[in-house]
Amino acid sequence: MVTEAELAGRVKRLDQFVADQIAAGEVVERPASIVKELIENCLDAQASSIEVRTEGGGSDLVWVRDDGRGMVAEDLNLALERHATSKISSAEDLLGVASLGFRGEALASVASVARVVLTSKDAASTQGARIEVHGGKLLSQAPVAANTGTTVEVRDLFFNTPARRKFLKTDRTETAQIDMLVRRLSLAHMDVAFKLRQAGAKRELVLPSAAVEERLSRVLGPDFIDESIQIDEARDEYRLHGWVGLPNHNRRQTDQQYFYVNGRAISDKLVGHAVRQAYSDVMFHGRHPVFVLFFELPQSAVDVNVHPTKHEVRFRDARAVHDFIFASMHRALRDVRPSAGLDEATGPGPAKAQLFSNTNFSNSNFPNTNAGRQIPLATGEPALHRELPGGFAQMVAEAEPEFLQSDDVPTANQEIPPLGYAIAQLHGVYILAQNEQGLVLVDMHAAHERVTYEKLKSQLDGEIARQRLLVPIMLDVSERDAQLVEELQAEFQEELQRCGLVMERAGLTSVAIREIPALLHERNVAATAKDLIAEFANYGTSDELQRRELDLLASMACHGSVRANRKLSIAEMNALLRDMEQTENAGLCNHGRPTYFQQSIDDLDRLFARGQ
Ligand code: ADP
Ligand code: MG
Repeated sequence: MVTEAELAGRVKRLDQFVADQIAAGEVVERPASIVKELIENCLDAQASSIEVRTEGGGSDLVWVRDDGRGMVAEDLNLALERHATSKISSAEDLLGVASLGFRGEALASVASVARVVLTSKDAASTQGARIEVHGGKLLSQAPVAANTGTTVEVRDLFFNTPARRKFLKTDRTETAQIDMLVRRLSLAHMDVAFKLRQAGAKRELVLPSAAVEERLSRVLGPDFIDESIQIDEARDEYRLHGWVGLPNHNRRQTDQQYFYVNGRAISDKLVGHAVRQAYSDVMFHGRHPVFVLFFELPQSAVDVNVHPTKHEVRFRDARAVHDFIFASMHRALRDVRPSAGLDEATGPGPAKAQLFSNTNFSNSNFPNTNAGRQIPLATGEPALHRELPGGFAQMVAEAEPEFLQSDDVPTANQEIPPLGYAIAQLHGVYILAQNEQGLVLVDMHAAHERVTYEKLKSQLDGEIARQRLLVPIMLDVSERDAQLVEELQAEFQEELQRCGLVMERAGLTSVAIREIPALLHERNVAATAKDLIAEFANYGTSDELQRRELDLLASMACHGSVRANRKLSIAEMNALLRDMEQTENAGLCNHGRPTYFQQSIDDLDRLFARGQ
C-alpha cells in the first residue's frame, strides 16, 4: 500500500478539467482576449461584416456574428474541441501560416470556462446548426434556421472557476479594452465593416467598410491624417506601408502605435526599437510617436507560433527586418523635416523645436557641470523682479515679445543677482547671461518648466487658480478620448478642477476646454489637455489620480512652458532668471536635467589656455 504522504510527491496525470483550465488560462486572459479570438475567426472565415456585442465588460456576455463562410453541422462539435482546426493540417503548414488562427484551441478554451452557444451555416447548406456547451460539457445540438455565417455567444465567463472570476478587472476597464481592441483589429481590415455595441458604453461603434480616412480618424483622431505622412516602401521581400505621424504629433503614451505583421497586430521589441531609433533625433525625450504601419513579408520568413495569444512573432532574419523598418521610416521622416513646423505666425512649431532637443553640450566641454546647482538662491526681492510683478510666466502668457532696448539692463552699481543679467539668446534655445562669476547658460524651456511646475505645486494646497476662456478651445481627439472625457466629467470633475482644467465632451470626436490654469497660456492648452486625457485613461480611480496629481502638474508645466526657438526679449529673459532664483529646485528641470550651467571666467580662461 502506498500511503497518502508518499503519493504527495509522485508524478500524476492531471484530470481533464484541470488540464483544460490550464490551457484555457493561456488563451483567455480576460474578456477582451475572447473578443480577439472570435473576431479573428470571423476574419479567417472571410467575413465582410462583423458585429460584436458585450455586457458586463464582456464577462456576462460576448456575442459575435459574422457573414463569413460558416461551418457545416458536423464541424460544430469539432470546432469546440481542443487542437481541432481547419486552417493547418501538417507540421510544415506551421511554417507558412496565412490565417490568423491555426492552433485550434480558442473555441475549446473559451468553451471550457464559459457557457457557449455556437450557431453556423455554410453557403451550401439549407439549414444551420446550433450547439450549446457549458464549461466544456455538451448540452444540446440541433438544426436551426440561420443565415450563412457564424454566431458565437459566450456567457458567464469563469462561471465554473469563481477564483478566476475574482481577478477580472472592472467592467469599465474591460469595456474600454474591448473598444480599443476592435479599433485596433479594424485598422488592419479596412475592407471589413465592424459594429460594436457594449452595454455601459454610451455609443455604438460603427465602422463601415472601405472608408479608410474615416476609420483612421475614428481610431487616431481627426487630425491624424493631416499630421502624418503616408509611406509605402518595398525592398526585396519586405514591404512597409501605412501612416507615420509627424514628429510634432506625438504623445505622452505609446497608446497610438499600431503595427501589423502580415495583418496581425503584434507588439515586438525589435520593431519598437527600430521605430524609436527612426524618430530619435526628431522627438523630445519621453514623448512617443503615433503611427499605423503594415509590415508584409513572406509567411515563411516569420514564425507566428511563439505564444498562445499570438501577440508576438519571431523573424527569421531579425537584423534585416530591423534595418529595413528603420531605414524606411527614417527616410520618410527625413524628407518632411525641412518644411515641418516653421510656422512663423505662431512661433516655431514643436517639430522645429525638437530638432534642437538633442543639441545639448556634452559634459566634457563643461568641466564644471554641477556648478549650476551650487549657486546660492537669492534672498529678498531682486531688482528687476519688482518691475515685472507678474514674473516671466505672466509676460509669456500675456504678450508676444516686444523687443526692449539694452538700457533695460540695470547699471553696474546695482547689486548683481545670482544668475546675472541676460545678454542674448542663442539659437532660440539658450539664454546667455552674465553674472559676477562669469557666464551663465540657461536652457530656457527646462528652466521655465521648472518655474511653472513649482508655481502650480505651490497653488495645489487650495485649488489651482483658473481662468475662464471667453471662447472655449475646441479640441479634436480620437473617439475613445472623447468618451473618456465624458466619463471623467461624470466621475472626476473635482480632481480635474483641482488641476485647473474644466473640459467637456462636445461631440463624437471633440472636446471643449472652458477653463485653464491661469498660469498657462491658451496656446499650449490643447497639447496639455491631450496628454492629460491620455494619463487619466491609465489611472482609472480618483485615488490614483490624487496620487498622480504632481505628475499631471509636471506635464502641464512642460506644455505650458516656453518652447525652444521662441524669441525672447532681454526683459523676458531677465524675468525668467529672476523667477528661477525664487524657485525651489531651479537647478533641475522636472525631468532631472540641468536647467543651467555656470562657467566662471577662470573656467573660460582655462578653456582658452589663457595665462598659461
Ligand atoms: P483556430 O482558429 O486556431 O483554427 P478556433 O478554436 O478558433 O481555432 O476555431 C476552430 C475552428 O472552428 C476553425 O479552424 C474554423 O474552422 C472554425 N470556426 C471558428 N469560428 C468560425 C467562424 N466564425 N466562421 C467559420 N468557421 C469558424
Ligand atoms: Mg481561432
